[in-house]
Amino acid sequence: MYHDLLTERTSGFDVAVAQGQIRAALGSASRVKGNAIVQQWRGSRELSLGELADLLLADDEDALLDAAVETTSTYFGATRSLFAPIYLSDACQNDCGYCSFRRGNRALRRSSLEPREIVESARVLAGRGVRTVMVLSGSVASEGHLEYLSTAVNAVGEVEGIRHVEVGVGSLPVTWYRALRQAGARAHVLFQETYDRDVYCDDAVHPLGTEKRDFDGRLAAHERAAEAGFGVLGLGALFGLGDHRTETLSLIMHARWLNSRYPEVVTRVSVPRLRPAAGATIRDQPSPVSEADFIRIVCVLRMGLPDCEIVLTARERAAVRDRLFSIATTIGAQGSTSVSGYLRRPSFEEQQFTLADRRTVAAIRVELQRRGFVVW
Ligand code: SF4
Repeated sequence: MYHDLLTERTSGFDVAVAQGQIRAALGSASRVKGNAIVQQWRGSRELSLGELADLLLADDEDALLDAAVETTSTYFGATRSLFAPIYLSDACQNDCGYCSFRRGNRALRRSSLEPREIVESARVLAGRGVRTVMVLSGSVASEGHLEYLSTAVNAVGEVEGIRHVEVGVGSLPVTWYRALRQAGARAHVLFQETYDRDVYCDDAVHPLGTEKRDFDGRLAAHERAAEAGFGVLGLGALFGLGDHRTETLSLIMHARWLNSRYPEVVTRVSVPRLRPAAGATIRDQPSPVSEADFIRIVCVLRMGLPDCEIVLTARERAAVRDRLFSIATTIGAQGSTSVSGYLRRPSFEEQQFTLADRRTVAAIRVELQRRGFVVW
């Protein structure tokens, strides 16, 4: 029954057609044309898929950064926002090979925050000056879990100082999304992980028999969330699983499609790179993405989606993040990727994955302000 509800909508975004167009664009991409686009950039124009493929080969990193910074400044000025996650529960029915919360990780002692601990965690973040909280949880298909999530969203939203609550709680039916929206959640965040169906459905990534194996149900999740009333949709790919150029162009095409289908909705993209996780069976990135690749990806996303928020999490090293503060608009700050992470010091084994930038919220705020940004 629950699974039927997840497949109640097929995505209008035809990923098979998109992948064919992307393959053709990448097959005829040119570094020289990519560098020329960068040199002639005037801050904004709609780039074709072919031009975006060219840009992914541009090799003048500084010029590419300058072009992306100019675009960001045109659309977003000097405002940046901070956010942090609260992991409610690491119980999960899925078995994703890259995640320590996967059900096959028997070494993890599962836990869920009590209502009192949820409020305490939100107060810790509010005390650090964080105004936007993303509530996350492993996947559990039960009405009781929906009630738990809704209560948590409501409780976090009531904490003094917290202005926005967002949810990253998996691919859900419309009725569940509607309940979370009614509880006060503003944004729906869900990553496709990879737009390559073969990689997605590899048993080492999303094993047969798990709910998450349903590629099409997940692809349509943002449409279900929009239908349920969410006004902000957060997309992403887990970089390192599939070919990063294909993932970047797929993300842009998916965001553009959602923007045209739901003009009233704001889309946002995240660029998580696969990180080490205790208990994960995928330990290294199957399709490695270097830091130079990562920076290029962020720049191309910006130029391909000029008015789209770009999220930069603390998965990346401080030095890389500092370079990208002028392009990303939404900055993850001193988050914890474990349940209870704001109440006590978590072990490596308790974290969904590890973070690389361990700076405090205050230190990140100071760094952003030093660079001339207004932070909220
Ligand atoms: S990535 Fe999400 S769905 Fe997959 S095992 Fe981890 S918590 Fe569960």
